[in-house]
Amino acid sequence: MSFARPRVLMGLQPRILFTPRTSSIRAAILARRLVSTSNAQHAQGPSTAVSHDGLSSGIRTGYSHPSEAPAPVFDAQGKEVNPYKDGPTALDKAVHLFFFTEILRGMWIVLENFFRPPYTIMYPFEKGPLSPRFRGEHALRRYPSGEERCIACKLCEAICPAQAITIESEARLDGSRKTTKYDIDMTKCIYCGFCQEACPVDAIVETQNQEFSTETREELLYNKEKLLANGDRAEAEIAANLHSDHVYR
Ligand code: SF4
Ligand code: SF4
Repeated sequence: MSFARPRVLMGLQPRILFTPRTSSIRAAILARRLVSTSNAQHAQGPSTAVSHDGLSSGIRTGYSHPSEAPAPVFDAQGKEVNPYKDGPTALDKAVHLFFFTEILRGMWIVLENFFRPPYTIMYPFEKGPLSPRFRGEHALRRYPSGEERCIACKLCEAICPAQAITIESEARLDGSRKTTKYDIDMTKCIYCGFCQEACPVDAIVETQNQEFSTETREELLYNKEKLLANGDRAEAEIAANLHSDHVYR
């Protein structure tokens, strides 16, 4: 390795600064970047640089080492597969380029869609379909007798990852339990649906109502009365959705 003169080096790339001590012809080729200057090639010696076509010429015509070339692919009969065999020829590409066929095809698609019915709907007057599993506003359900379903097991409170549910409970006269307080902070809720999955009696559910935006934060702090009212209002829809989804539960 030798340093070239500083006067010559000004403005040249750093990889040329450290040139191997070779003949003047090789140095000229190296300066024109026709020979690889990688360490791998230096380790093999200057005369062993192998081009892609297998010649040990020292002049890089393709890949500097055969291992860099992509491995050929063979079919079941042992014939080499050419992935570009059935592709467009250079003449095909030139014709498409010259006659702007891609622009014409793009304009045809625009024309087709101009006469199609629109994909957009006029929300809120028109609404798209919702999955029975859609997770919207929460509700607490009752049995047909009017009795609250919730047995205050607090599984929903325990599983809620956002810690949005707060429950307080007391014992009934018959020894079972009921909630005295069931609050959900809807500003914390991430609508994961864990609470309704954990509930053993399908008491807490998420309805399909997604239009419950409010003007104040306080209106999104739901208490038990609000949740029961939601359940009473949407019971028919909730029951139908749970029934259609019961085979997956
Ligand atoms: S949907 Fe998820 S985040 Fe919201 S109250 Fe239920 S468990 Fe908590
Ligand atoms: S809503 Fe369900 S999970 Fe939550 S406390 Fe009541 S019974 Fe238990």
